[in-house]
Amino acid sequence: MSGAIRARKVDYTAEKDIVGLDDGADNGLSFVDRTLRSQKVLPPFQWSHVLSEIQWISFTVLTITPILALYGLWNVPLDMRTLAWSIAYYFITGLGITAGYHRLWSHRSYNASRFLEYALMCMGSGAVEGSIHWWSRGHRSHHRYTDTDLDPYGAHTGLLWAHVGWMIVKPRRKPGPVDTSDLRKNPVVMFQHRFYIPMILFWGLIFPTLVAGLGWGDWKGGFFFAGVARLVFVHHSTFCINSLAHYLGDATFDNKHSPRDNIITALCTVGEGYHNFHHEFPMDFRNAVKWYQYDPTKWFIWSMYKIGLAYNLKTFPENEINKGRLVMQLRAAHDEAKKLKLSTPVSELPILSWDDFVLEAKTKPLVVVHGFIHDMSTFMDQHPGGRNYIAAYIGKDASVAFQGGVYEHSNAAHNLLSMMRVGVLSGGMEIASRKQNHVPSATPLLWGDSSNMTSSESDEPLTPKQDWIEEPTKRVRSDAATYIPPGEAYGVIEHRSLNENVKMKGTAFGKIM
Ligand SMILES: [Zn+2]
Ligand SMILES: [Zn+2]
Repeated sequence: MSGAIRARKVDYTAEKDIVGLDDGADNGLSFVDRTLRSQKVLPPFQWSHVLSEIQWISFTVLTITPILALYGLWNVPLDMRTLAWSIAYYFITGLGITAGYHRLWSHRSYNASRFLEYALMCMGSGAVEGSIHWWSRGHRSHHRYTDTDLDPYGAHTGLLWAHVGWMIVKPRRKPGPVDTSDLRKNPVVMFQHRFYIPMILFWGLIFPTLVAGLGWGDWKGGFFFAGVARLVFVHHSTFCINSLAHYLGDATFDNKHSPRDNIITALCTVGEGYHNFHHEFPMDFRNAVKWYQYDPTKWFIWSMYKIGLAYNLKTFPENEINKGRLVMQLRAAHDEAKKLKLSTPVSELPILSWDDFVLEAKTKPLVVVHGFIHDMSTFMDQHPGGRNYIAAYIGKDASVAFQGGVYEHSNAAHNLLSMMRVGVLSGGMEIASRKQNHVPSATPLLWGDSSNMTSSESDEPLTPKQDWIEEPTKRVRSDAATYIPPGEAYGVIEHRSLNENVKMKGTAFGKIM
């Protein structure tokens, strides 16, 4: 955001084509790449040609004003009324840029009555940052081509360049093309463009001096403090939106590009510091969406709406804003989770039959929970409930006891238990048919297709066909295949194909050790 110090000639022909709709879209290159290739580019900056590389008008304004401000600070006594007026005028002219140049004309995030448009135009002129048309044209390029060479103050070129460098040195190429037809039809914008120099002289220097001079006789203070020093603050305050707001803070809604949300930048820039939000939802009249975030520009626009001078305030749907925030929170959680040590993936665990599990449990303290076999040997003495509760379930299925039958364990217990996994139990539980040497009538339903069963009218016990007797030994109980400890729940997407992995890549049947 923000711009150079003077109005430029409006080029009505350069942007007559609505950008991006040319017929080169199918040659495999993006519009940005096509434009970068077709544009003329100045050779890299050379110190040996420094005098011809400088944009002298911007350079002069940006260097003379701080020198004059320092002179005033050392030599002119500071009247408290002038100080108050300087601070007030800082906000007035700052709002001319943020509420006027930026949110009204660059982004059309609300509509202003003609009176408010003229007021904002005068306020913005007092900030001496170029004409509305020039400023908004560059800013639209900044949004459309963020972090590319078509962005006139792309943050990828470095903090100093994004802050002031782009105004002091001649740009290497033109800003990426954008549509500014609405601005060219706006009489307020065009009026200011025509009378730009008198407007900046009056509102930038003469008016603040007049107020202090006629108001309380402090002509010098009015000029040096409310005029010049205030101008330096407004300049660097708005320049921070191009520099600091693309470096400092959080990517709350998207991290593909450099804009960031930060309260410090908000404080420096009359509320434009929630820049990640702004780049994500540029037509929203707000920068800060929370009531407690600092955004005087939003408060100003809202106040204008309340007194009938602004209308059609645009806001992005809350649901979509929340989605954007959630995606970044999930991403952060996922990145955090990558640092954690997780339990052994199911596909790498051996699959044991119930009989083998019982046999192994004679030499190791093995317990089944949720279809997984756990080796409790390192945990027996650390169990908060005492080792006897674990000892009672060695060689047994403790799923019910673990889930509340004896004690309903915490998330932490689930996570810790998962780290003790050493195998998967085939069938997931003790197979009743083996234990009792017959299959109760309801049991076949566990295995699915009842057509495989012998007729219930027969006096024979209900016994699965031979292939079904063998089949369960190759199956993993679905509990084990889908159970995810709470601490690994972030990775649901990664576990999506877990069932398949178990079936396709499951390790060979065999002993645990
Ligand atoms: Zn930006
Ligand atoms: Zn913007």
